[in-house]
Amino acid sequence: MEFDLSTRRGLARAITRVESRRTDHQIEARDFLTSVMEKTGKTQRIGITGVPGVGKSTFIDAFGTMLTDMGFKVAVLAVDPTSQRSRGSILGDKTRMARLSVDENAFVRPSPAGETLGGVARKTRESLLFCEAAGYDIILVETVGVGQSETVVADMVDFFLVLMLPNAGDDLQGIKKGVLEVADLIAVNKADIDPKAASRAQRHYQNALHILEPADEAWSPPVLTCSGATAEGLPELWETIELHRKKTTESGSRAKRRADQQIKWMNELIQDGLMTAFRAHSAIQSELPMLRQKVGNGEIPASAAADDLLTLFLNNNN
Ligand code: GDP
Repeated sequence: MEFDLSTRRGLARAITRVESRRTDHQIEARDFLTSVMEKTGKTQRIGITGVPGVGKSTFIDAFGTMLTDMGFKVAVLAVDPTSQRSRGSILGDKTRMARLSVDENAFVRPSPAGETLGGVARKTRESLLFCEAAGYDIILVETVGVGQSETVVADMVDFFLVLMLPNAGDDLQGIKKGVLEVADLIAVNKADIDPKAASRAQRHYQNALHILEPADEAWSPPVLTCSGATAEGLPELWETIELHRKKTTESGSRAKRRADQQIKWMNELIQDGLMTAFRAHSAIQSELPMLRQKVGNGEIPASAAADDLLTLFLNNNN
C-alpha cells in the first residue's frame, strides 16, 4: 500500500495506518516506512514539555507560525498517555493551535488515544518518520509531564525544551529532577505578565542547572525567557536551538544521540516482541498459573521457575 506523502491528507492516512490496532495495517505501515526511510532524518526534532497551563499550545502556535513564516514546514505531534483514560488527547488538539492548524505549511496531529505510554511512544516515533519523509523540516513533539512521558519524548528528539512558569518560588514547582536532566533549554514562559518575576525565575533555574552535570559535553543548557502570547524571545530561542544543532553536529554528539535512540528503540521492540510471544506461547500459558502460585507460596524459588519457563519457551517453539 502506498500513501501520497506530498499531501497532508496522504500523510494523515499513513499515520492512521500506524495507529491502527490491526496487524495487517501495522505491517502495511511498517513496509511503507521501510520504503521511505531514506527520506527521513534530515530534520530538527524538538520535544516540548511543561505542566498544563504553562502555555504549551499558545507557544507552539506562535513558535510554529514563526517557523513557517521563515519558510520551514512544521509538524506537531503529541505524546499524551492520559489519552488512554480519556479516549481523547488534550494535546495536539487543533482548536488549541488556531493559526498553525490552518497554516498550509504545518501539520498538526493529536496523540494516539487508547494506548499505554509505550504504545503512544512507538506510534509517535513512526509518525515522526512519516512526517520527515513527507518533507517537514521541523518536528515538534509536545507532551505533558505525566509519568515517564518526558523521558520518552526526550528519547525521540534532538532537542528537549522545558517550559516553566515565572512564579517559580523556591520549590522548582515540584518539577521532577529527571526533567531538568534531559532539558537542553529551559524557557520561562509568560514573561509578558511580569518581566521581573520572569528574570528571577530565570536566575533560579540557572542555579538549579549549574548543580547538574551537563549530559552533553558540547552543550550547557541555557535558561531564556519568552512569551507565547507576544512572541517575544521566540527568535532567540530558535537561534539557540540552531546553535545547539551546530555545536552537537560538530562534536558528533547529535549523530550519537540519534544512533543511541534508534538502538534503544530496537531493543525495546525486541523485548516487547519477546514478551508478547512468551505470553502467547501455549506451553507457557498452561504452566504459568501453577508456577506463579508456587512462587507466590514460597514453594519454589523464583529463579527456578523462571528457568523452567524459559527452557520451555526456548525449546518448544510454538
Ligand atoms: P497548555 O495547557 O500548556 O497548552 O497552556 P495554554 O497554551 O492552553 O495556555 C494556558 C493559558 O495561559 C491560556 O489562557 C493562555 O491564553 C494563557 N497563556 C499562554 N501563554 C501565555 C503567555 O505567553 N502570556 C500570557 N499572558 N498568557 C499566556
